[in-house]
Amino acid sequence: MVLNLTIPQVLEITSGQLIGKFTAVPISKISIDSRQILQPDQTLFVALRGAKADGAAFIPNLMGEGIQLFLVHEDFQPTPDQEKDCAFIRVRDTRVALQQIAAYQRKNFPKPVIGITGSNGKTIIKEWLGQVLSQSFTVAKSPKSYNSQVGVPLSVFGIESYHQVAILEAGISKRGEMQALQSIIQPDLGIFTNIGSAHEEGFESLEEKIREKLMLFEDAKLLIYCKDHPWPAKEIEGKFEEIKRVAWSIQPGTDFCVSYKSFEEKTKIILLKNDLSTLTFSVPFSDKASLENITHVLVAALTLGQEISAIQEGLDHLKPIDMRLTLKPGINDSLLIDDTYNNDLAGLKVALEFLSQQRPKRSKILILSDLLQQGAPEKIYGEVADLTKSYEIDHIIGVGKEIQRLKSLVDLELEMYPSTDTFLQNLDPERFQNDLILITGARSFAFERVVNRLQQRIHGTTLEINLNALTHNFNFYKRQIDPKTKVMVMVKAFAYGGGAAEIANHLQTMGADYLAVAFSDEGVTLRKQGIRLPIMVLNPVEESFDLLREYQLEPVVFSPEFFKKLGYYAQNHQIQIPIHLDLDTGMHRLGFERHHISELKALIKLFPELKIASLYTHLVGADEDEHHEFSILQLEQFMEMKAEVESVLAYKPLIHALNSAGIIRYPTYQMDMVRLGIGLYGVEVTGKYDGSLKPVSTLKTTISQVKELPAGATIGYSRKGALPTGGKIATLAIGYADGYDRRFSQGKGFVLIQGRKAPVIGNVCMDMVMVDVSDFEEIKAGDEAIIYGEQISLKELADRIGTIPYELLTNISTRVKRVYYLD
Ligand SMILES: *Cc1c(COP(=O)(O)O)cnc(C)c1O
Repeated sequence: MVLNLTIPQVLEITSGQLIGKFTAVPISKISIDSRQILQPDQTLFVALRGAKADGAAFIPNLMGEGIQLFLVHEDFQPTPDQEKDCAFIRVRDTRVALQQIAAYQRKNFPKPVIGITGSNGKTIIKEWLGQVLSQSFTVAKSPKSYNSQVGVPLSVFGIESYHQVAILEAGISKRGEMQALQSIIQPDLGIFTNIGSAHEEGFESLEEKIREKLMLFEDAKLLIYCKDHPWPAKEIEGKFEEIKRVAWSIQPGTDFCVSYKSFEEKTKIILLKNDLSTLTFSVPFSDKASLENITHVLVAALTLGQEISAIQEGLDHLKPIDMRLTLKPGINDSLLIDDTYNNDLAGLKVALEFLSQQRPKRSKILILSDLLQQGAPEKIYGEVADLTKSYEIDHIIGVGKEIQRLKSLVDLELEMYPSTDTFLQNLDPERFQNDLILITGARSFAFERVVNRLQQRIHGTTLEINLNALTHNFNFYKRQIDPKTKVMVMVKAFAYGGGAAEIANHLQTMGADYLAVAFSDEGVTLRKQGIRLPIMVLNPVEESFDLLREYQLEPVVFSPEFFKKLGYYAQNHQIQIPIHLDLDTGMHRLGFERHHISELKALIKLFPELKIASLYTHLVGADEDEHHEFSILQLEQFMEMKAEVESVLAYKPLIHALNSAGIIRYPTYQMDMVRLGIGLYGVEVTGKYDGSLKPVSTLKTTISQVKELPAGATIGYSRKGALPTGGKIATLAIGYADGYDRRFSQGKGFVLIQGRKAPVIGNVCMDMVMVDVSDFEEIKAGDEAIIYGEQISLKELADRIGTIPYELLTNISTRVKRVYYLD
């Protein structure tokens, strides 16, 4: 909901200053994204400044699309033409202004607002509570995990006047952030989920983290929490009066005393209230985390006075859900975006945005179910139609009854089916060829069946890449350097194992300046997949000169001989080739040494066809203290050598030296560009900022078989594994051919099953490995095992077998499917 605002109102709310043309048009939409403009004449565009991009850069384009109202930073100076046609509201900080507008909008929503925070479970509790409450009310909620300083304001703008309750989540990562979110959300009812013990960069201590999070509930009327988590409970009880607190626990003596009785996949939940009345519910799952989350949901629904039968009705449709928006390889070179858990317009926008950022394919296809959103359908489907137009969807397949309304609203070819069953009966997967397909639908349409039909078979082992974590890490390094310093990202070796095309594409949308690959072939692959960023090739060979030219790849030149060969090639073909010069200051791998410099200068004059795009050197020990002096020596020698080369150039090439570790240790040498590698993929090799990066990849596999073995049994080749007193093993579908290092054999390695460690037993085989699960109670074929990921540090694993994280990452075989997601 954006209550119609006027310019004077915005000026008052934000203490802004108006320049340019005053218009009296009411503002009914607020956008921060230049690609999501639906009604330009009524849209206020807020130009945010990010680590890389400045929203103000889009103003000329947006004016072309008809936008006339902009909220900008106070140093923004419109051109005389812009001033003539548009209104600019200048404020000290546009992000703060966006938050102020959201807070104002929130104040005008008279119905209950539920605020959720804590370390884990926020999003799932929000989604489940939304599903349960929607049995009785029209519910607004934040899309996906929109819980940040910008996500929360956007969530508020999604609340409409017909909603009867709103659920918003708040996530913070450092001290001082909750204040702003509190002033926007102003929850009437709060839910505090729990607190993780992990050390977080932004907080001094666990107490500080809890206190900061609790600020959200400063003015709440009621706060729901679980008393079984002693630390937060203590803080809550010290801070909030008894009358505000709604506690639940598995112990007696709280407002709700809970007990669980699980039967296979089902659980009966019994709530004993303090007036000794009992309530019984049943849910279709039994794992501990889900039970804790659903108990918060139950207590919240009861606190809001929802009818018991309606609550149970809502629970009957729940499943443990995967909320993530996932990019998967599809059949016939198609790419699938799996959004089979989505039920509203806000979620659809997020998914379309993700779609628009993917590599170009033959056509964009949207498979969409009815949106289970109450409220005026004409308006909702009208917006769906506008969205499909602005995201340039080529073809729509609609499933359901309401979706039929689209027929009269869009001029595309539409295919409509009344149900998922009829759609599947008529579906010929072969019709899709090299397409980009977004599959998005409400839970009840069970679109996972559609995804199953259209995805490339994925079995056993997958490498999941978290694109949000990649963004987080990229921005972490951007914050370490000057905004003007460029970033070249190393995507050699299949982007350190992560999958070059998807990662390169994501980097392109994040605003990386350059990419680098090891060999020409890798660059060709990227170009064929639609990557447009400049690409440097570290180790080109003479045989690939034609490819370099055809695919606009920029070779590194590292010796006088190579310079000449490439120079003659350029002369013969009468072309210019941008090149990069590798200056060897101590690596002694490739590169011009000091004694080559005068010859190099002569060659530069001789072959003006070779245009020096950059000059660089590479540090040999930037990650280690013991090499500090040598690193400085290298950097100083590089400065001298590059000055010599520059003396014969009439133009300025880019100068760069730092890799990931160098960015952290030698920021004064960042020069024009840095070369980011391993850090982007979540490993901070200097160890100085261990908690600041997020792990990007999770390698997962499944259990193929579980065996009970008698005392004395041996396991695997050469009888290297033994169970002297008998026990239980699980065989996993991953082996050294997938990149699971054979050095993990015989207890050196371990995997995580159900969050617990299971050590490798015996020798790792080519396609399988056995782990000891003797003390696991319930474990069966098909269960998941994590090889590395969030809870298993790559550094620790690498240490165990005497190698480095680089090797573990890049060893993952290409036969392991890569799946990408936004969480
Ligand atoms: C691989 C590589 C990098 C990146 O190194 P990281 O340690 O992964 O950051 C930088 N420069 C060159 C020349 C490289 O080969």
